[in-house]
Amino acid sequence: ANREVLPDFSGTGELSDGYRVPLLSNVGSGEDAQLAAAAGAEGVGLLRTEFCFLGKEKEPTHEEQVAAYGAVFAAFAGKKVVVRTLDAGADKPLPFLTDASEPNPALGVRGYRTDMTSPGVLERQLKAIAQATSEHEADVWVMAPMISTPAEAQDFAQMARGAGLATAGTMIEVPSAAVLAGQILQRCDFVSIGTNDLTQYTMAADRQLGTLAELNDPWQPAVLHMVAATTAGAQSADGKPVGVCGEAAADPALAVVLVGLGVTTLSMNKRALAPVSAVLRTVDFAKAQRLAQLALDAPSAELARSAVRAELSELD
Ligand code: PEP
Ligand code: MG
Repeated sequence: ANREVLPDFSGTGELSDGYRVPLLSNVGSGEDAQLAAAAGAEGVGLLRTEFCFLGKEKEPTHEEQVAAYGAVFAAFAGKKVVVRTLDAGADKPLPFLTDASEPNPALGVRGYRTDMTSPGVLERQLKAIAQATSEHEADVWVMAPMISTPAEAQDFAQMARGAGLATAGTMIEVPSAAVLAGQILQRCDFVSIGTNDLTQYTMAADRQLGTLAELNDPWQPAVLHMVAATTAGAQSADGKPVGVCGEAAADPALAVVLVGLGVTTLSMNKRALAPVSAVLRTVDFAKAQRLAQLALDAPSAELARSAVRAELSELD
């Protein structure tokens, strides 16, 4: 087993004034879930269910899926686990579901869109998630990747509820979804911002191209404005939850900015829990809001990052 020693994390995320920001973990297998729970994660903010599908020649059976999801739920009894339905395509090709010959796979049939070309796979996955939920104590939420319109959010929520899953949401990783987050949240229960793809699509810069790394930076003020549009939409929809589950949440200074923008939970690699919680504890909510405004007003990613870091002395 993996015996890596992780830095100490108290098990709750909060600011200096007691404002709570649950710190969750991104997880990609049952074993990973046990390690995240041991590291003190308050729950799972992103279960990447691709682990059950990738490398397979055909769709895993109902029983295989129930066992795979159940292993994760067992590690988080009584805690929240946000399950993302299959996100195949683009950087995660899957031979029996996605078409590798598409000219622009990142703009193609990926994520939720594969339900158009391979109907049934998503519905069967939702049934397996519901079955595993009924066998464990975890508080299971389910969300779809690559949602682009309020209608898609409505269709997905209906499908999830039809499978017996009570809490259904969507990822926000396409600019069209960020702009219409309020309308999306009128049709489902929560959203979670995937900053990796939201950055790629806002900046029109392939996340897999190292040469475009400067554009592919979640500190880009345009990306932060997309986050602000999402939290503003949530405010207009009864203040429903807005998480972040992309890599941005694992950068301590950027985590402060995200909280200041109104994000309610952060989900990250287990290794980031301790450093992120340590920096969150040094600011109150008013300061987080002030730093968020500094970043929104900056003309570049570099200046946004340096302006915020200069106000967080414990970082260097
Ligand atoms: C994201 O896009 O930010 C995300 C969390 O999903 P993935 O990295 O798996 O595409
Ligand atoms: Mg994504």
